[in-house]
Amino acid sequence: MSSPIIAEIIAIGDELTSGFRLDTNSQWLAQQLGDLGIVVLYHSTVGDDIDANIDVFRHAFTRADVVVTTGGLGPTADDLTRQALSRAAGVKLELHEDQLEHLKTFFNRRGRTMTPSNEIQAHFPAGSVVVANPEGTAPGIELTYSSPNRETIVFCLPGVPAEMKQMFAQTLKQRLQKITGQTQTIHHHVVRCFGSGESHIESLLPDLVKRGRDPQVGITASQGIISLRLSTSADSVKDCLSKMAPTLETIHECLGDLVFGFNDETLESVVATRYIQSGQTIAIADAGMMSAPALLLKKSGAPLVAAEIAEFEVADVAKRAEEILQRTNADIGVAIGPIQRTDTIVAAGESNYVVAVMVKGDGVAKIHEFIFSGHSAIRETLANKRLLNVLRLL
Ligand code: AMP
Ligand code: MG
Repeated sequence: MSSPIIAEIIAIGDELTSGFRLDTNSQWLAQQLGDLGIVVLYHSTVGDDIDANIDVFRHAFTRADVVVTTGGLGPTADDLTRQALSRAAGVKLELHEDQLEHLKTFFNRRGRTMTPSNEIQAHFPAGSVVVANPEGTAPGIELTYSSPNRETIVFCLPGVPAEMKQMFAQTLKQRLQKITGQTQTIHHHVVRCFGSGESHIESLLPDLVKRGRDPQVGITASQGIISLRLSTSADSVKDCLSKMAPTLETIHECLGDLVFGFNDETLESVVATRYIQSGQTIAIADAGMMSAPALLLKKSGAPLVAAEIAEFEVADVAKRAEEILQRTNADIGVAIGPIQRTDTIVAAGESNYVVAVMVKGDGVAKIHEFIFSGHSAIRETLANKRLLNVLRLL
């Protein structure tokens, strides 16, 4: 296997280093580069300071084959990317007459006069290539820098996300495909799981989550949802999916109904689909949860016939589920609430939730009790998900 192409993404701007704005460009670019088979090993963020920018470029030249920067290409005094790149690479900035004409036309068409400060946008480091920006004033720059140990290709793009994305799609993507020589499609498929912790789920999978495997399987956890991300490359998406099939089968065999969906599916969307298909309706009474579980279901289009905020004691939760089922004539009656129990000891930083679910015709409600620890803000979210999971597995 040839050695991987290493990339560094550099986000430039005081608004980023000060925390005023979130750097979404780097996130987007990292995904794009990853899909081209390029290994993004570094993200750097730097303010609008010429020396700091030169320093970041010089550092990148020592460790990256591809560098993509965003920001700092505008006409104002704090836009320093072109100056920093030319100084870091040790080349002069040259005026490109055709770019100057292009800028003049751009301003004339809009009935605006071009200020002298805009002229800087027609200057490019010697030896660089202009990257067209069809809908903006600031074109991008491509420059190859040769240092003793490697050659680094630098692409500078504007900060405005829409312009940056358009330029990537129209120019950089093809350029980078040439550089990588990659003609294959990289595809990701995400398996969503709920009902157990990340490390337990990993332990159920026989060596799937290890580096160097193809398809590669990555595991991440967020608010109770464990995601397994499968990645592979082949001639087409269809071929990628065929390559993934045995791994997917193993995952299903090992995890069973811990797997609830794929890609963008959520617990609530899966529950909604399940009850739309079965034609069963749901009624929910909740104590102290401000209709949160019902709202989640409603947004996903679940057949919800009633959502009520109620008050009940732990001993009455089953009765409450039965009561709402009969009164609303739903097929599934649910009562859920955080319960201050007196018969068990709940430690500080823990919450107890009780869920009762009664299915029409069953005669008795099933009781589920959950105890959560962890941050208080996450406990209610987890309780909602546990309820959705009960409904999913019903
Ligand atoms: P600039 O090209 O530096 O003049 O940036 C133009 C605008 O693009 C900024 O004012 C930001 O609103 C936005 N921007 C710049 N960098 C980023 C980034 N990394 N992520 C998201 N937005 C950005
Ligand atoms: Mg800026």
